[in-house]
Amino acid sequence: MISEQFVGSQKKVLERTISEIDVQIRRARKIEDLGSSESENTQEFESLAENQALIKSLEKEKKDAQRALELIAAGNYSICKSCKGPIETGRLKAYPMADKCVECASKKK
Ligand SMILES: [Zn+2]
Repeated sequence: MISEQFVGSQKKVLERTISEIDVQIRRARKIEDLGSSESENTQEFESLAENQALIKSLEKEKKDAQRALELIAAGNYSICKSCKGPIETGRLKAYPMADKCVECASKKK
């Protein structure tokens, strides 16, 4: 079993991660707005596409972090969603959004 204290600190990390992601998304969206007003430049178009890919991956990350927070709220944090076994503490420390144990995560779907 993992300690309540550990879950509490993971919760803080996740909340901070979400607010950092929000800042990055806002910044990326601003670039998108600026770029769309004069999109004739190909170079700019490329960076816009990159920017959209960035926003997408940031949103996915945010979703993962929010899901982890929901798991914490429900008391299901650190439980592998595949095998229902415990997720290693070291893995959660390195990746607080982890919802699978190392073994299940390394298996291909
Ligand atoms: Zn597992």
